[in-house]
Amino acid sequence: MHQVIELDGVAKRYDRVGAPALGPLTLSVAEGEALAVTGPSGSGKSTLLNLVAGLDRPTDGAVIVAGRRIDRLSERGLAEFRREYIGMVFQFFNLLDDLTVTDNIQLPARLTGTSRRKAAARAEELMETLGILKHASAYPGRLSGGERQRVAVARALINRPALLLADEPTGALDTASGRDVRDLLTDLHRAGQTVVLVTHDMALAKACASRTVHLVDGRVAQDFDAQAAR
Ligand code: ADP
Repeated sequence: MHQVIELDGVAKRYDRVGAPALGPLTLSVAEGEALAVTGPSGSGKSTLLNLVAGLDRPTDGAVIVAGRRIDRLSERGLAEFRREYIGMVFQFFNLLDDLTVTDNIQLPARLTGTSRRKAAARAEELMETLGILKHASAYPGRLSGGERQRVAVARALINRPALLLADEPTGALDTASGRDVRDLLTDLHRAGQTVVLVTHDMALAKACASRTVHLVDGRVAQDFDAQAAR
């Protein structure tokens, strides 16, 4: 099966001394997989996500995403790579408060040169699917946390990324909104989206991931298939 992520002997050190913060590890994620990365605080989850997103570089090893060796790209190459292949969702949404919902969603498409008309049409389609079309002209500050995370998911999906990365996407949400976002991620996985989800919430991992990698001290302590519960 086609691999969306291939990490080969990847290690990341922030200090010269002691063990690396992450790795060395070798790990592949196939197209259509939903991988949850779990582990206690400080176990290397964010480091792993940053390497895969091209937001940071490994000290050792090769990071191949969507068939590209990204650890060797220039900063500009990395920025282009991220725009085209990666969608990211964060705990605190990272929306731009002075842009409307639809403009937030369209922004990554406009940055890759998609026409205004096409970007607007794709944004509308996503807002419809995610149940936020009625908020298209609102500013994010007027929305609930759960609605904001839906906007963030729509923005992450607008360029049809090969890979959706989610970093504690329910961490700032109340229980009901967290459940909505969990169901949304499960639906995206079912529709074939490749997802990597970082969370310390084992219930979230169990609900939306087809596989869970559990990190301890930067190493893979467990790697198990876990069919989505529903
Ligand atoms: P997690 O996301 O699981 O909480 P992190 O990837 O943030 O773990 O951190 C893994 C280890 O690397 C921790 O010991 C952390 O202190 C260290 N670390 C993370 N980022 C940096 C950084 N920018 N500079 C120095 N040390 C860092």
